[in-house]
Amino acid sequence: MKFQPKASHFINGAYVEDTGGTPIDVIYPATGEVIARLHSATPDIVDQALTSAKSAQAEWAAMSGTERGRILRRASDIMRDRNHELSVLETHDTGKPLQETLVADATSGADALEYFGGLAASLTGEHIPLGGGDFVYTIREALGVCVGIGAWNYPTQIACWKGAPALACGNTMVFKPSESTPLSALKVAEILIEAGAPKGIYNVIQGYGDVGASLVTDPRVAKVSLTGSVPTGRKVYAAAADGMKHVTMELGGKSPMIVFDDADIENAVSGAILGNFYSSGQVCSNGTRVFVQKGIKEAFLNRLSERLATAKIGDPLDEDVNFGPMVSENQMNIALSYVEKGMAEGARLVFGGKRIEGDGFYMQPTVFADVTDDMAIAREEIFGPVMSVLDFDTEEEVIARANGTEFGLAAGVFTNDLTRAHRIVAGFEAGTCYINTYNLAPVEAPFGGSKMSGVGRENSKLAINHFSEMKTVYVSMNDVEAPY
Ligand code: NAD
Repeated sequence: MKFQPKASHFINGAYVEDTGGTPIDVIYPATGEVIARLHSATPDIVDQALTSAKSAQAEWAAMSGTERGRILRRASDIMRDRNHELSVLETHDTGKPLQETLVADATSGADALEYFGGLAASLTGEHIPLGGGDFVYTIREALGVCVGIGAWNYPTQIACWKGAPALACGNTMVFKPSESTPLSALKVAEILIEAGAPKGIYNVIQGYGDVGASLVTDPRVAKVSLTGSVPTGRKVYAAAADGMKHVTMELGGKSPMIVFDDADIENAVSGAILGNFYSSGQVCSNGTRVFVQKGIKEAFLNRLSERLATAKIGDPLDEDVNFGPMVSENQMNIALSYVEKGMAEGARLVFGGKRIEGDGFYMQPTVFADVTDDMAIAREEIFGPVMSVLDFDTEEEVIARANGTEFGLAAGVFTNDLTRAHRIVAGFEAGTCYINTYNLAPVEAPFGGSKMSGVGRENSKLAINHFSEMKTVYVSMNDVEAPY
């Protein structure tokens, strides 16, 4: 098997196998071929990983931020040097076209390692002067052992977006990738060791939800960062609450994108394409409810259809291909079932809607028009290439409808009216907003959701607060006065 790693897990600086765990077949979504067979972590593997992370933590935290940062930045350089090889692996893990993985996965992981590596030396507390000479100082401390649990759409990126800030702050990590895409995170662990990381600071173990659950409840764990669906988030958050653990929840969405009739239609169509069909629609922040003002609706739909007809669908390893398969047969069938729901609910199919026959898990980019707010395709996260276009008349109406969802991950507006753009963004109930673009997530900017879409933020300096805590030290320069 072409992509068989040395073993399923990476613990304490080395590959470790335990064939007693449930087998995990890794399937290349473009062909349906099994490209690797791994095993889910047994309780012994879970214990080994946590023991390794726990025993490495104090020494890692005791290193200077400069030293920790240097290791992370070295890892970033290695990732960039190996971008092609890592992108080919990511494409096999996920099915995403090489055209995307070459620019959005290992490179994004490298950005996170570089950014948080750069911050590591400047993570400090503060000095707070008080009256009479007393003062307080605060010490920024690592939380301890952090658990990262990933979704399957961006396995390398998620492994780094969680690992880099955790490690920069002096924590250690046990990362469990999605069972659908288990290969890429092992490379991140390997690269960190090659960059000089002490053994045990970043461990990767494989497994289904039960392995994730056993990590979350372990008393050695101080923090859990999950990227996944809302139902999983609810379970993980509740389990973490029992142990009063810190959490970051990066969950699902059904984000609105509003296109006003004064918008540049070409840019709005580009935003709708990026926000619905990149990674075959398997992006959490996708703007899957596209509200288009009535006056430009048909022009928008016509131009969208013209441009979708030029999408190159096919072998994801062909660098000209820009639309690949979905991650699994199951996920494709879920998305196709929503196409049926949309038709049954009376939405107008404007583009696509069909499976592309063959061994791979391909479906066409799909657009529904005349969608109404009550339809399942407008309410539920599909996590596939299915765009719903809804009409609207006024600003007041559209902002209320855009916010009429339990989710709050992202939201976007296309308009050439400057004040309206900012007014709309101020009214959005969403963590990550866009004006005249969509779905960009640079490491410098906070990323995350509000409402049911999550808790906490990834990336940016804010992530530091989610992977460290402050110790307050009151220093008295005076005698202690007691009442008796
Ligand atoms: P999922 O919720 O099915 O699984 C996510 C991860 O949680 C997997 O590793 C899974 O094994 C693990 N898991 C499942 N049950 C668990 C439990 N009880 N305890 C601990 N871990 C458990 O999600 P998915 O299908 O892999 O990914 C798609 C979802 O992820 C979508 O909803 C998408 O919007 C969301 N997502 C969010 C972001 C974000 O940053 N907000 C990014 C990517 C994906």
